[in-house]
Amino acid sequence: MCAYDSTLIASELKVSYLTETHQTRWLEVLVDCPGTTNTENGEEKLFTYAVPSDLSIQPGDIVSVPFGSQVVGGIAIRFVKSLPENLTEARIREVEDVITSGLFPRTYWDLLNRVAKYYYTDLMTVIRMALPPKLLGKSQRRIRLKYVALPEGAEIFCSLAAQEIIRLLKSQKEGDYSAQHIYSKVRNAQKGIKELIKRGWVESYLEPPRTTRPKLQKAVILVINNFPADLTNRQREVIEVLRHRGGELWQNELLQLSKISLSVIETLAKKGYLVIELREKLRLLSHPETLKDSAKQLTPTQNDALNQIQATTNYRQILLHGVTGSGKTEVYIQAIAPLLEKGLSALVLVPEIGLTPQLTDRFRARFGSRVCVYHSALSVGERYDTWRQMLTGEPQIVIGTRSAIFAPLPKLGIIILDEEHDSSFKQTQLIPTYHARQVAQWRAELEQCPLVLGSATPSLESWVNIQENTKHTYYLSLPERIQARPLPPVEIVDMRRELQQGNRSIFSRSLSIALHQLVEQQKQGILFINRRGYSTFVSCRNCGYVVECPDCDVSLSYHYTHEGATELLRCHYCNYSQLHPRNCPECGSPYFKFFGSGTQRVTQELTESFPNIRWIRFDSDTTRTKDAHRNLLNQFVKGEADVLVGTQMLTKGLDIANITLVGVVAADGLLYHSDYRAAERAFQTLAQVAGRAGRGENPGKVIIQTYSPEHPVIQAVRHHNYQGFLDIELPQRESLNYPPYGKLILIRLSGMDGVEVQQTAEKLADECIERLGSLGEVLGPAPASIMRVARRYRWHILLKFDALSESLLGSLQDLKKSCPASVSMAIDVDPISID
Ligand code: ADP
Ligand code: ZN
Ligand code: ZN
Repeated sequence: MCAYDSTLIASELKVSYLTETHQTRWLEVLVDCPGTTNTENGEEKLFTYAVPSDLSIQPGDIVSVPFGSQVVGGIAIRFVKSLPENLTEARIREVEDVITSGLFPRTYWDLLNRVAKYYYTDLMTVIRMALPPKLLGKSQRRIRLKYVALPEGAEIFCSLAAQEIIRLLKSQKEGDYSAQHIYSKVRNAQKGIKELIKRGWVESYLEPPRTTRPKLQKAVILVINNFPADLTNRQREVIEVLRHRGGELWQNELLQLSKISLSVIETLAKKGYLVIELREKLRLLSHPETLKDSAKQLTPTQNDALNQIQATTNYRQILLHGVTGSGKTEVYIQAIAPLLEKGLSALVLVPEIGLTPQLTDRFRARFGSRVCVYHSALSVGERYDTWRQMLTGEPQIVIGTRSAIFAPLPKLGIIILDEEHDSSFKQTQLIPTYHARQVAQWRAELEQCPLVLGSATPSLESWVNIQENTKHTYYLSLPERIQARPLPPVEIVDMRRELQQGNRSIFSRSLSIALHQLVEQQKQGILFINRRGYSTFVSCRNCGYVVECPDCDVSLSYHYTHEGATELLRCHYCNYSQLHPRNCPECGSPYFKFFGSGTQRVTQELTESFPNIRWIRFDSDTTRTKDAHRNLLNQFVKGEADVLVGTQMLTKGLDIANITLVGVVAADGLLYHSDYRAAERAFQTLAQVAGRAGRGENPGKVIIQTYSPEHPVIQAVRHHNYQGFLDIELPQRESLNYPPYGKLILIRLSGMDGVEVQQTAEKLADECIERLGSLGEVLGPAPASIMRVARRYRWHILLKFDALSESLLGSLQDLKKSCPASVSMAIDVDPISID
């Protein structure tokens, strides 16, 4: 498809001229206009244009292009060497003008292209994900007269069209019309405008989208610097407040602060002592006043780390491996400060919103309003304004979740991923299924700035990369907590023995005693419940036996297809399946069930067994509303509850000094999730949650309840032994060629017709086997662990190969051709979970 041309002949002439001088380069433009969306699949398309020889365009420029009978705004995306198959040169039209240049960082489009390629996704899908909705919206191209430049009687020298345009513009008070209006009034307007721009007598600009216009608010500005004699007490108060706040305040803030009525302000304005003015108010997330804070005196190890980071001015991947509470955040903050002075910005990524309030508060305390928060839960208006704030190029700090890796900060001095091991940096539900750590690495390379990966429990990917790629990496370690506070002792409770000794409660005797003491000593605690993998694996509550696949070394999953169906246990790597036994095959016990217990069940039992314990539930159900995280945590910090009961959210970054007890209600759901990463995730989660205890002056204590106390992960967590965990886990990964050694790609198929999906999966698997040959393995096809979701059947094909042989696979998107329209296919590169 192309924007059709009404002046075909002119365009043809131009094209032949361009071909002669070998300058033909085609430009793909993201045209921002209704009707550019492909109605079949709802996807937007790029349109191809020719570039006039006298126009210099960079990818990322905002351009104006003819589209149908209009001229609309668009973003220059990339140059291509050849035209799409269905287009001839004659039908191509030219870019009309460059409206704004340098709005996006130079490397930004390279980054998006790289994401598209690596994750087998259309560029357009990547762009749509990266740009806020309606960035250009219905942005309008406008033309205005430059009165200063316009000589008296200038029209005489111009073409007829240009003369008419000048006349038209002069008829408007500000000499300003939309290009659209000029086209409708003047023949050959396009040529006329070009001519006038060249002469410097008019300029074209892009008006911000109407749908998300900047919000205007009243500001009050003090214009005198004394106290005139005729002031009433009230009026004097207002002026004092204003003086105290540097002479300017939003009107609503002033009303609140001085507790006077609007009429007082208006009277002062009438007297000429102050001015009320409409100003643009950026809808940046409003933030509560934070206390000012200054740089802490660093410990010697913090200082070494800081020096190393500051000495790095080009691309390096720096692993900051610091135990929980070792002061990583303080290092980030001090690494950023001098960059701002140099006019550079910083990007700080954090795993989850739940963690952001505390961390942002610490950054705000140090950097004030130069901190911007960016994540997908912002409203469209907030997102739009935050973007515009970023595009100003002012040195600033953007703190955000995964998607903030695409924040268009023009001059980046550093990228930091805090808790880099966290799986929420991977997008799993939507395409592209990017990992923010991977994208951050590319971005840091493109921008030539350091990438700092901070964690107490680094991902195996980062760990192995640091070992193997010493040319571009540094390893920095903070092995001790601040003020040499000890890591909390970890007690492992064998829940099999609790049952044998007659305790059927979900709380072991040890945990019960600790909870009683907590209340007596007015300390606080957290109870962690694993949500992920909840109730999918089956184990014996008497002997701890877990059913595993005979061929794959993973635990089998319980499959729920529908009410009344035969209960099956299945392996989701190879599709082995067996009946769900009633009794434990090992000891015959009838206590042989799916494992797991939700937060709700824990809080219920807490209320029954410990009526005097006040608790707050902190999980995805209770933190759905805006600011819920902050409010719940504030309540807890203020001491309005004794125990915080929650899921994974609790493990991340909480720094609350009064927490002395951490209880893990059941570690087993983590240990036996049927995934090759189960052990890594379990170690990271348990070590992180343990790290919440004893961060203040009082020593902490951790109690982990499990049916598998001898499990190597439990033993490693017990001794805070990351290296010990690596020594067991890495050789296993290597021998099976799992990441970080081999590479995985998961192909997810789904459709309404189960048989059709299965057959398609088999066919595609055969194609993959053919492509990979002996250089890789194709595992499956196998049904997903929850086989039917929203009435769709889901099947997976897992490709495992050496990263170097990936080119053999060709474009995996091709496989779609072998997919019937009723079966959808998604490609997940480097999947982190194979559910
Ligand atoms: P991490 O991010 O490694 O878990 P934090 O940066 O949260 O650690 O530091 C833990 C606690 O120690 C925080 O309360 C922080 O304010 C404090 N802290 C960090 N560095 C120092 C320092 N050099 N001197 C005193 N206190 C510090
Ligand atoms: Zn048993
Ligand atoms: Zn298997």
